[in-house]
Amino acid sequence: MRCERCQGCMIRDSFVDLRDDTGRVLFEGWRCINCGEVVDPVVLTHRVDVPAKPYRGQTRDRRTWERLTAV
Ligand SMILES: [Zn+2]
Repeated sequence: MRCERCQGCMIRDSFVDLRDDTGRVLFEGWRCINCGEVVDPVVLTHRVDVPAKPYRGQTRDRRTWERLTAV
């Protein structure tokens, strides 16, 4: 796995998270041995959840949108 920040090598690592906002205490993630960037499962989930996908095809064609909302 490559670091998105510096393209360095990332290794699997375990982290202890003291923030209690997610209720997570110990989690597995990736750490860049070059710049120290940390990618944890929560971050990956957020990245997957925010693609530019949902609006494609629905707002592009106005007639399709009007047909969908007219019902
Ligand atoms: Zn890095």
